Amino acid sequence: MLREFIASLRLAFALVCVGVSLILGGQWLGLIPDVDAVEMRARQQYCESIAINASAHVRRQQWVDLTTILRTQVERNEDILSIGLRSDLGTLRLDTGHHREMWAHFEENNTDGEGDRVEGMRVPITLNRRPWGNVEFCFRKPESTAWAPLTEHSVYRLVGFFVIAGLASYTLFVAKIMGVFRKTQVVPDRVRRALDTLAEGLLVLDEHGQIVLANRAFTETIGIPLEDLVKQKASELSWTVPQSSESEADEAVTYPWIAAIDQSELQSEQMLHYRLVDGRKRIFSVNAAPLGGDDNQRGALATFRDVTHVEEHREELEKMLGMLRSSRDEIERKNTELEILATQDALTGCLNRRAFFERFDAHWRTAHTDNTPLSCIMVDNDHFKSVNDTYGHHIGDEVLRRVSKVIRELHQDHGLVCRYGGEEFCVVFPNMTLQQAIEEAEKTREAIAAIRLEDPAELTLTASLGVSELRFNPSDPQELINQADACLYVAKREGRNRVIAYNMNMQSMEDAAQNQAAAKPKRLDISYQAVTALMSALSYRDAKTAEHSRRVAHWCSRAAANVLDPAKIYVLEIAALLHDIGKVGVPDNILNKPGSLTEQEWEFMSRNDRIGVEIVTNTFNCDELTAIISAHQAIRLQGQRSRPLSELQTIEDEQVAWCAKLLTVADSYDAMISNSVYREQSSHEEAIAELRRCAGTQFDPEVVEHFASTIDERALAVASGAFALGKQAAIQIGLNVERLAAALNQQDLRALQEHASLLAITASSCGLDSITEAANHICDITNTEDLQWTMLLRDTNELLDTARAAQSEFLRDALELETSRSFQAD
Ligand code: GH3
Ligand code: MG
Ligand code: MG
Repeated sequence: MLREFIASLRLAFALVCVGVSLILGGQWLGLIPDVDAVEMRARQQYCESIAINASAHVRRQQWVDLTTILRTQVERNEDILSIGLRSDLGTLRLDTGHHREMWAHFEENNTDGEGDRVEGMRVPITLNRRPWGNVEFCFRKPESTAWAPLTEHSVYRLVGFFVIAGLASYTLFVAKIMGVFRKTQVVPDRVRRALDTLAEGLLVLDEHGQIVLANRAFTETIGIPLEDLVKQKASELSWTVPQSSESEADEAVTYPWIAAIDQSELQSEQMLHYRLVDGRKRIFSVNAAPLGGDDNQRGALATFRDVTHVEEHREELEKMLGMLRSSRDEIERKNTELEILATQDALTGCLNRRAFFERFDAHWRTAHTDNTPLSCIMVDNDHFKSVNDTYGHHIGDEVLRRVSKVIRELHQDHGLVCRYGGEEFCVVFPNMTLQQAIEEAEKTREAIAAIRLEDPAELTLTASLGVSELRFNPSDPQELINQADACLYVAKREGRNRVIAYNMNMQSMEDAAQNQAAAKPKRLDISYQAVTALMSALSYRDAKTAEHSRRVAHWCSRAAANVLDPAKIYVLEIAALLHDIGKVGVPDNILNKPGSLTEQEWEFMSRNDRIGVEIVTNTFNCDELTAIISAHQAIRLQGQRSRPLSELQTIEDEQVAWCAKLLTVADSYDAMISNSVYREQSSHEEAIAELRRCAGTQFDPEVVEHFASTIDERALAVASGAFALGKQAAIQIGLNVERLAAALNQQDLRALQEHASLLAITASSCGLDSITEAANHICDITNTEDLQWTMLLRDTNELLDTARAAQSEFLRDALELETSRSFQAD
């Protein structure tokens, strides 16, 4: 500021000097009139005219008139002190008063015509061409001061005034001009015009962040004319805080141009939101560069790229991605729930046999490849039958829940806990030696013995346990279990409530005991891995049949729940899963033929049924399984050919016969309640009525009644609700959708395409048209050249919603079923 003032002062001084020299030059050239001289001349003329007048009066001797005139003159003219008329002889003939003293005073003090207070002037008058005398004038002399030489001279006065006033006014004027110049002329006009051609908005700001210049793009975008913007602080325009970052709203926004000015550093790509006068929003990507370096001349240049469209698009994408992620998370959670539902035993919460074998196989392989130990314990409650007999089934179930809880709490973290049979549990410990497993078994035995119920309080429990380990070279997981089971048998025989570990002599002992008492039933040996492999083959050939088989397995295991023990239910379940495995060889024209089959086609079908039995026999070598499936096929064929059941050869093993009959009933029930090419879909009631109608001929009446009493109309929800999903299908679809969402999240187009088409295949094989359609639509979108991510995200979100709804529905139905089932058990 001071510098600016000094600069202005210097310039003003120079201007004043020029002015002064011009005045003096003018004076020298005589262009400026000398006021004193003019005054003197005027005074002389005045005196002359009075003198002429006086000579006229003197000639006529009119002394009185002349005196009056002269007095009047003295009175009127302030500068005149006195006037006198003196003859050549020196006589004062006429006087206006005090003239004698005045003139004397003048003459005394003045040598060159001027006294110190009085100035005198003498004008001669003539009479008849001869000098007569003089008219004497005494003028008042102006008071003289120290400055008199300067102030008295009019040029000096003018110069003095010019210097003082000029210096002040020039300084102000120059300062003002400099300020305006600095503010408006930072950017020359041609640059200004060039800036106007830019598509990006641009502001030139001074060191206070005030707008010096805004280009056309900026003024047009924000709709404020340049005149209104200039001198306004850029930070005070209508910038807004974006909604997403409202939490940060407390922190004052640092505008990039302010940062550029303060830090003298380039600021790039900062997003600012602006609210227009009409309320619409604009989003700018702002860059700001500092201008100048001198402290007084700092400022900034800020550019504003209008990215509203891009940003809104991005925001929408992000919102949809957020929705997608939360949908995916929910689907993941639901998948986990479904998985638990599909892998757990409902009563005890332990793994069911299927899930157990799947996991056991994985640990088995790891133990062999890594050469690490793996051990197994079998737990069987002692005299459990008497608990049921004494206190009832209800207490028996409660005891099983408590025992399983104890075992799970002890081992779930480091091993697999499976409900292997009715009151039998199997625990597999990866990475555990025989000795450690024996200790774990002992702990388990003690924990079971410590269980107390509130009611009946007197009830005490014991369990017998068998332990084995890989060191005894079992050939497969089942054999390891069998070894532990053999020890369990020894423990029972030796008095129960104890732990027995396997040793090499055990096999012969076990055989001997089995021969002796024939009390030990042969363990079933069905590899679940093989079941899964066959089911995938069937799914691949005909997903609908595979899904039907899964549902039949579900109906069978539910109907058998309180009749058979879990080991037997397991065999029945597998039989149900594989009862149609022969269809892998049936061509589509027969498989999907509407209406009844010809004799030849029936022959073909039954040949393939036999092939199915052969596959099962060769794969599992399990007599019971083979027996159930072949008996079921015989019963079914009899029904299909409308021949009475009684004609069939009786099946010796009662349990196998019961299982086969149940399987047939469940098979027909499921066929009736599902959509199929053969017939119209029936309601639960209609299906049960039809079963009852055919009871006695096609179906066993007792089994039909048992089935009808265990399966109610709520079961239908699972099979024929809005989403007729089996557990496996629900999980499969859930997984596909989960992967689809992940692919979209990673914007992996190829994976996205792949999972969408897989999903379409799975959904179509389950008859889920809405999901199939949506998945196919996504495939189509990904195939278009001009890929619209927004559309893709929106459609995928919709698909996720549908899939999630399907899962929720399935979970709800499944849970309802579980609840109704436990009521029935009670
Ligand atoms: P042992 O000491 O020889 O093992 O005698 P046990 O009575 O425990 O053996 P057994 O195998 O003869 O009897 C098992 C009983 O367990 C038969 C069956 O009623 C009962 N059981 C099996 N599953 C369940 C179930 O889910 N709930 C109830 N309450 N009882 C069950
Ligand atoms: Mg038992
Ligand atoms: Mg028992």
